[in-house]
Amino acid sequence: MAKSNIRTSNSKKKNIGRLPLILFPIVLIALIVLLAVLNNQNADVDQKEAVPALSVINAEEQPVLGSPEAKVSIVEFGDYKCPTCRYWGEQVFPQLKADYIDTGKVKFTFLQFPFIGTDSNTAALASEAIQAQYPEAFWDFHKELYNSQLEENVKWATPEYLTEVAIKSVPNLNVDEFKQQLADGTYQEQVDTDSNLGEKAKVMGTPAVYVNGKPVNADYQSIQKAIEEELAAVK
Ligand code: CA
Repeated sequence: MAKSNIRTSNSKKKNIGRLPLILFPIVLIALIVLLAVLNNQNADVDQKEAVPALSVINAEEQPVLGSPEAKVSIVEFGDYKCPTCRYWGEQVFPQLKADYIDTGKVKFTFLQFPFIGTDSNTAALASEAIQAQYPEAFWDFHKELYNSQLEENVKWATPEYLTEVAIKSVPNLNVDEFKQQLADGTYQEQVDTDSNLGEKAKVMGTPAVYVNGKPVNADYQSIQKAIEEELAAVK
């Protein structure tokens, strides 16, 4: 045992002598990896550049919640068929609303990004129709539609189902006119306007959240940090 220990110790000494040579390729690889990581960080910074179109949302064309004078804006791209969007609306949004929207610091806009199924587009058409025809009922319809969400892989957002949701949440709804608008795709242009904005903003999935046009993670802490930074910058 003792001999073998000595041998090990000797061979260790020899190895130590060779270490710098052995380390050379490892150091080189580490440098390459480091450069790649730094490059990636730069890419992240680039992605965080503001999308100007998202910080000048026109309240006459889009639903805006909160004070129109607020200096900070949050934009959410969503799909009514997206379960995470529903979760976000239930778990993250109420806190944001209480802390920032109701206090006049932040205004909030929802934009359509229907991509999950063909009925995602039908749901977006319904949302745009309600916003155009019954703007005062828009947020109630929006919430009711998320509450009425069914399985993601089931084609549930049919004109009939969307009409039921609208009857529940929009007072004095003209049912026949609403059905006709869905059948005619009356508000397709408005849906496409939102989707095109999303593509410009490189939306990869929903909910996609932007604070003053800059992409942020959709969790409360990340949004709060971005809002506070923007509020400090406009003071
Ligand atoms: Ca819209």
